[in-house]
Amino acid sequence: MIPFLDLKAQYGNIKDEINAAVSKVLENTQFILGDEVTAFEKEFAAYCDADYGIAVNTGTSALHLALLAAGIGAGDEVITIPFTFVATVAAICYTGATPVFVDIDPVSYTIDVTQIEAAITERTKAILPVHLYGQPADMEPILEIARRYGLTVIEDAAQAHRSEYKGQRVGSIGDLGCFSFYPGKNLGAYGEGGMVVTNNPEYAHTLRMLRDWGQECKYHHILKGYNYRMDGLQGAILRVKLRYLDGWTEARRVHAALYDELLPSGVKTPTVLPYSHHVYHIYAVRSQQRDALQKRLHEQGVQTGIHYPIPVHLQQAYAELKYQPGDFPCAELAANEVLSLPMYPELPQEDLKIISTAVRESI
Ligand SMILES: *Cc1c(COP(=O)(O)O)cnc(C)c1O
Repeated sequence: MIPFLDLKAQYGNIKDEINAAVSKVLENTQFILGDEVTAFEKEFAAYCDADYGIAVNTGTSALHLALLAAGIGAGDEVITIPFTFVATVAAICYTGATPVFVDIDPVSYTIDVTQIEAAITERTKAILPVHLYGQPADMEPILEIARRYGLTVIEDAAQAHRSEYKGQRVGSIGDLGCFSFYPGKNLGAYGEGGMVVTNNPEYAHTLRMLRDWGQECKYHHILKGYNYRMDGLQGAILRVKLRYLDGWTEARRVHAALYDELLPSGVKTPTVLPYSHHVYHIYAVRSQQRDALQKRLHEQGVQTGIHYPIPVHLQQAYAELKYQPGDFPCAELAANEVLSLPMYPELPQEDLKIISTAVRESI
């Protein structure tokens, strides 16, 4: 079976460095936050061209705290897309605010910027674009609308480490940028992890307190905070892995170009917008016979994924938002048609060719 993702291959290539970094933390016993996490915050923020990085325990926590730092809470509305991982929407709900959906652009799978203004009400406080699959949302019009209405822009960059919009790294384009280091992400920890990056020192100060019980210093709780701290081990591991991210990203882009070339015209390959440096967290093709294609690929030994089969507005857990089938036609059609092919830096080119042939023979 050609796997969708192979984390063992990557570990095999960097084993000695990782093991040394892990040993160092075991010896110095800085298991929560500590020097390695502080160093990783600085290095990752610099990598995103941001002034501050605040490491947390998950990407979901990064979104939750970014929203809280922006002052969002009960009675507020936050605009986002329904075609995303559920965490984007869950984080909005954690604050007590209401998610308000806008459909996706059918080509980029990111927020349709022409529909944002119609969704703004007196309660709207923020826009939360998602850089889905590793392609940035169209940030310029989003920032322009946000400025005009006095809204905060929080980027969900969980799938888009090192992605660029018009030459600018994502995460530092809006007011706050949120990353996940879930193992399968483009920069993955060996456990859970996340980070908020920002250029705003007040947000950074608030975020540092919120992730650690709202403390300004030990046992002085200024805010009602959370236990959202990053592990020392993850900080040490992520520091090692960050040094490889440029190379890994380039490998993903080379794989994507080869897929683009080899895949038959019967499937729609991803469209890269002119403004975008796509980092291919996901390489998703589209087919009207998606389920049959997935089944036939599986029979031929190719593992695939679907990101995501049900848009969040149609998930049972969010029925209370009172959306209906048909409310977001582009998101619903994408959910029925997308199929994610194997994509990871170490994917052997031989396997990529086998996958492409299997797709040709399956449509
Ligand atoms: C992975 C992901 C998250 C959540 O990150 P976790 O680290 O798993 O909590 C949020 N948004 C998107 C778009 C994601 O892909």
